[in-house]
Amino acid sequence: MKIKLITIVFLIATGILSAQSDKSANTYQKIVKQTDEIYDNLVKIRRDLHMNPELSKQEKRTSKIVADYLKDLGLEVKTNIGGHGVVGILKGGKKGRKIAWRADMDAIKTDDPDPVTFKSKNRGIRHICGHDVHTTIGLGIATILSQQKEDLEGTVYFIFQPSEETFTGAKDMIKDGLFDIIKPDEIYGLHIGPGTSGMINFKANELFAYQRSLKVKFKPSVNDNELENFMNTVLKGYARNPLKGSPWDIINNISDPKIGITSKETIYKDYFLLDGTKLYKDQDTTFFSASFFETNIENTHSIPLEIKKQILNSKFKDAFISIGYSRAYATPINDPELTNIAEQTIRNFYNEEMFKPLYGQAPYFGEDFIFYQQKVPGVFFFLGGSNTEEGISSMPHSPNFAVDEKTIKYGVQCFASLIFERTNNK
Ligand SMILES: [Zn+2]
Repeated sequence: MKIKLITIVFLIATGILSAQSDKSANTYQKIVKQTDEIYDNLVKIRRDLHMNPELSKQEKRTSKIVADYLKDLGLEVKTNIGGHGVVGILKGGKKGRKIAWRADMDAIKTDDPDPVTFKSKNRGIRHICGHDVHTTIGLGIATILSQQKEDLEGTVYFIFQPSEETFTGAKDMIKDGLFDIIKPDEIYGLHIGPGTSGMINFKANELFAYQRSLKVKFKPSVNDNELENFMNTVLKGYARNPLKGSPWDIINNISDPKIGITSKETIYKDYFLLDGTKLYKDQDTTFFSASFFETNIENTHSIPLEIKKQILNSKFKDAFISIGYSRAYATPINDPELTNIAEQTIRNFYNEEMFKPLYGQAPYFGEDFIFYQQKVPGVFFFLGGSNTEEGISSMPHSPNFAVDEKTIKYGVQCFASLIFERTNNK
């Protein structure tokens, strides 16, 4: 059962919600203390994962560490789901709502030097997307909630997913029967973001822009220059660019207090951003490819149809062969009602300064968390990991990616509390 807005008004009027808030704050304080006690061990786990990163589909060591840890906590553990996927089931002392928490485990190929002292031992592979931290936070939440087991009214499922970077892990786990093994009512997860360590950001509906790639085929008889000019003009006709400059210039403004994504006046609300075009050919075909970011799903459906129409109305109509369309990055779509409840719940106990809603959709990000959300309503959060004073920047996939380790503590404290509230407050 979900809390409706009218119920919240009623609860405030009757004073029940403030009593509830006090209770939430007390639970949070208890969880803060318990997290402090396990923090050093969590840092040890994270450093070990960081030193031993594994690529997508190869997370054998990581998944064994996760499975052993969850078994030691006393959880029911299932392994090898959709590859190296692991599920831990924590049953509370009383019956209640069933909540899933998802963490991903895979690392990435990179030859850039590792800025930390506990460097990756696997040459050319490193956690530059923070999944070592996500895994550690997942284990931390499992530890803390195990400590509340008697008071926990419901069940918590911990999903440790392989192969997020290849966008296959969530799908593979689902295909392998994940939702036959567990039946969550709600699902949550997080990604490290570039904000200050501990900063939590999220919004209802789409978190990211939709990325699409177009490939148009022509007979090789066309004049390449003329075709390229024509196609570029057609595509530029769709541009709703929030700023002049290259797409990279635009992403650089994402944290700007005035136009960045946490400002109500953000430039990231409504845009079509061309991310490059290319003309190339083989013996029989001339190809024109383009990729773009678009915030509006309806436009992503209509754009290829409109482009085809424009080609068929141009002098290139006889040379036109076909237009193909592929989806690349997927965006999480946060359930509006659960987003609202999560925001109210987190505001009850978390530092007000460290919570900022998002007002726009980020380009260049993708997440396969959406495949769970297509089955179970849920919310995906950003958790900031940067510390400018210490020169730590946690923009995912950037060559100098690092995470302030205190982020682990904030993540466990906040989201163990949120999950506890979601299972216990009906
Ligand atoms: Zn990632």
